[in-house]
Amino acid sequence: MKKKSAKNTDQSMRDMAKTIGNRFLEIQKNAEKHGIFLNHRELLECQCGLKEDITTHGKLIVCRKSAVGVDIGLLFPEPDKSGKSRCPGCGRIVKVKL
Ligand SMILES: [Zn+2]
Repeated sequence: MKKKSAKNTDQSMRDMAKTIGNRFLEIQKNAEKHGIFLNHRELLECQCGLKEDITTHGKLIVCRKSAVGVDIGLLFPEPDKSGKSRCPGCGRIVKVKL
């Protein structure tokens, strides 16, 4: 009897962990949809002077190195699996550490 109860507890713990995991993924996707940066990689920077920055509200923006924090309304495309993206200003390929 005790063994069955322990099994049920294990199962409910697994179910709970799965539910929490799924909820976390939903929250993460929702945050990304709203432009919130999740600190999953380094920020991109280009030789032309554009760089990514994070606002105090956690939003990912692109600004000029000469005016950090001032959103210019462009975004670097999310880097591919090899960490490459293209600068929205000059079109140069930039690479980030993943
Ligand atoms: Zn550039």
